[in-house]
Amino acid sequence: MAPSTFAAERVVLQLKWRTQFQFAGYYVALAKGFYAAEGLDVDIRERAPKVNPLMEVLDGRADFGIIDSSLVVSRLRGRPVVLLAVILQHSPLVLISRKESGISAPRDLKGRSLMWWDEVDDAVLLAMLRADGLDSTDVIQVPHSFDSTALLDGDVDAISGYSSNEPFLYHQEGLPISILNPMSYGVDFYGDMLFTREDVMRNRPDVAERFRRATLKGWVYALDHKEEVIHLLRNRFGARKSLEHLRFEAAEIEKAIQPKNFAIGEFNLNRLRWIADFFKSADLASEQSDLSGLDYRDYLNKGPEVRIWAFWMIGIMAAFMLASLFQFALNRRLQNAVDRRTRDLAKIRDRLQYYMDVVDKYVIFASIDTAGTITHASRALARITDHPVDELLGHDIDKLRHPDQPPSVFEGIWKTLDSGVPWHGELRLRTRAGSTVWVDAHIEPRFDENGRINGFTSVETDITDKKRIEELSVTDQLTGLFNRTRLDEALARAVGRVHRYGRPVSVILLDADDFKSINDAHGHGVGDKVLVALAALLRDNVRASDVAGRWGGEEFMVICPETPLEGAAVIAEKLRRAIADHGFPVIGHMTASFGVAASCPGNHAEDLFARADKALYRAKDEGRNRVCVDPDG
Ligand code: GH3
Ligand code: MG
Ligand code: MG
Repeated sequence: MAPSTFAAERVVLQLKWRTQFQFAGYYVALAKGFYAAEGLDVDIRERAPKVNPLMEVLDGRADFGIIDSSLVVSRLRGRPVVLLAVILQHSPLVLISRKESGISAPRDLKGRSLMWWDEVDDAVLLAMLRADGLDSTDVIQVPHSFDSTALLDGDVDAISGYSSNEPFLYHQEGLPISILNPMSYGVDFYGDMLFTREDVMRNRPDVAERFRRATLKGWVYALDHKEEVIHLLRNRFGARKSLEHLRFEAAEIEKAIQPKNFAIGEFNLNRLRWIADFFKSADLASEQSDLSGLDYRDYLNKGPEVRIWAFWMIGIMAAFMLASLFQFALNRRLQNAVDRRTRDLAKIRDRLQYYMDVVDKYVIFASIDTAGTITHASRALARITDHPVDELLGHDIDKLRHPDQPPSVFEGIWKTLDSGVPWHGELRLRTRAGSTVWVDAHIEPRFDENGRINGFTSVETDITDKKRIEELSVTDQLTGLFNRTRLDEALARAVGRVHRYGRPVSVILLDADDFKSINDAHGHGVGDKVLVALAALLRDNVRASDVAGRWGGEEFMVICPETPLEGAAVIAEKLRRAIADHGFPVIGHMTASFGVAASCPGNHAEDLFARADKALYRAKDEGRNRVCVDPDG
């Protein structure tokens, strides 16, 4: 230890995971001397296997720790934990499954095996199961191995993870995944929270306050200097993630912190109570338990407030005594009964109002009349679409329709609803600024007393993040074209249509000529730019019904549904000429060779690909910059 820190107070922070951007604020506070300036010598501990951050703090091996909304359950169960700051305003915790397993809603998990982390992330996931009608006994719980191979090898059906972390890894492994986000089921809890123990607050409250202050300063710095901090995490603190992965994570973490809407660290007692109520209704805590002692501010020196409290207490006691005298003068029993009833009613009214507020704030819903005019819109809908509620009321629902959503989708919805049947599906909405919000919508017709439809009600969940991650897993990162995963799917689907309906399909394979020499002469960076330009040419020169993607390296594929061999050969020739005539950055001109094949009855996707590949080889052999067609069809 450096001699200058000998007088500093030594404290230990237990992280809930390994060094990464999720903990940027703490590492920045350490590296930039914010802790030292507060007289603290902080030992930041990564999570070691089997270490539970909650128990590290409770057993005194650490002074501070980070866990998510399970902290609320711990307090309800009487653990002496104290909340210092909420870092993530929304929990990035999600449940990830292999796409092929067909798990698209929590109820699909019935009888399946799930891997999660007891007392750290189980509460949020259980609440999601509850929200969709399942119980903890409906699923098989497996302790977390913290190893992504469990899902890759198919040892379990679903595994918990952070949306800022694991989806990226599976994407890199090329594993198509589905994501269940508790937020989509109304479970919108706080994510990472900084906490300590009661005895720290009682004996060393100033240490906790100083630690909190320096940490939040660290977070403000980290979000303002993400790129610098990413390098700091890797170079100084040994973060093992790639730069690309850390950048992805930093963007996701910033979204969960919401620095534009909240002061970092801020928390709201009503939201904590709402989370507590959720846990109670899910039987994760007893009805009588409460949150007193959870808020760190309750332990700080509150001189003047104590006097205000004393004043109130005296006032309340005086009122109570007067009330007692009054009761004595009247018929005691009757008065008691009336009082109790009044109190009960007031309680019910308050509770109803409270739930209505919560629903309005968190549940995305709208009502429209039969002409499509919005008659009711929740604040949650206003928030995700960025329209004030009064800009929605009285307007046509078309206002929220995204221009890229094909009109046929809406025609289908109206047709279903007009026949009195509810509609369920994914819809793309338009925000005030014109961007996209994806929702999973349940729309139901409403009926008047004569059984006639007099309007529709729509309840929606925000699935924008899920859509984005799914999109990411089928997109080639360099060129933005579809990747091999999606090409494989599209080819299998197209060949399926050949078998079922006898419709033709053709495949064009193309490979850049002498690409190695481009890399050798100009460097890999220029090579990458040329591939991006080549991808743009492909995109601009194929039809909307064709599927263009990067098969790998400098090789691309175009799938042409409903197209016989001759038609595909014309498209390939058009592409060949477009490439040969194009002026590419730095290198000027280049060419590509093409192989074209069409489906034969009884053909599998692999045969079709092999024939196109063979034709491509011939094009190379015959001197490159040409289109060769498979002789078999
Ligand atoms: P041919 O005409 O026979 O296709 O010659 P070629 O040099 O294009 O063929 P070869 O398959 O031998 O080399 C392909 C080269 O493409 C080698 C590889 O470094 C380069 N390459 C593959 N993927 C990328 C990439 O993502 N970026 C860059 N810059 N180069 C790539
Ligand atoms: Mg090649
Ligand atoms: Mg090549």
